Amino acid sequence: MTEKPFVDIRHAQKSFGSLEVLKDINLQVSRGQIVAIIGPSGSGKSTLLRAINDLDPLTGGEVWLEDTQVNKKLPHRQYEKHINQVRQDIGMVFQHFNLFPHLTVRENIKLAPKMLKGLSDAEADKLAEEQLDKVGMLERIDYYPSQLSGGQKQRVAIARALAMKPKVMLFDEATSALDPELVEEVNLVMKKLAEEHMTMIIVTHEMGFAESVCDRVLFMDQGVVVEEGPPDVIFRNPTNERTRNFLRKHL
Ligand code: ADP
Ligand code: MG
Repeated sequence: MTEKPFVDIRHAQKSFGSLEVLKDINLQVSRGQIVAIIGPSGSGKSTLLRAINDLDPLTGGEVWLEDTQVNKKLPHRQYEKHINQVRQDIGMVFQHFNLFPHLTVRENIKLAPKMLKGLSDAEADKLAEEQLDKVGMLERIDYYPSQLSGGQKQRVAIARALAMKPKVMLFDEATSALDPELVEEVNLVMKKLAEEHMTMIIVTHEMGFAESVCDRVLFMDQGVVVEEGPPDVIFRNPTNERTRNFLRKHL
């Protein structure tokens, strides 16, 4: 890679007590690149994703976003300030939508831009409308989460993350809790982001989606990156036996 990585994970190591969950993981993502992470349950995919914004701090190694080391050691106060700043640049969408149930869609989206970026109410309103329009949810702006389907909630969750104008978006099995008929509407939003060259790291169990959207695929197993490459190679011609076994069950 000639261009300097946008997201750079170097020698990531993570243990929970005596359980080593990430073993020397290296991942470089350039600006605008879309990377899929696949692998069996328990292989460390979520832990790796959560390490990127230091939600699950690594026990070894470094995470960089552009010129900033995300997981740098700082005195508590300075760390809080630093990490709050960094997290504004990293949008994250989880399996479960995590919308605030007592707030409308509009209020869900306005909250962080107002609190963290100091936007005025009118500015935040405009932003909420723009982002909801983008995910096709403008009509539901004054609904409560409980009045939405799972797919709609997930699209709102994406809009909420985008409202912070992140540099990178992380998705952790964003569609795996959805009824099958609702998966496509969320995938379409992610495809649209891909077309706009949003930098994305996507943990997914949907191989077809990964193949059609991503530039690179990483196969993880037991805390290591077993194999990585372009989707056509990983899905059509994997060299590693563990990758082949996994894909035999999941393609
Ligand atoms: P994946 O997302 O690939 O299913 P995870 O990253 O969630 O895998 O988990 C990897 C391993 O780490 C699993 O063995 C899991 O049980 C363990 N693990 C994850 N979070 C914790 C935690 N907070 N404490 C202890 N073990 C954990
Ligand atoms: Mg997971």
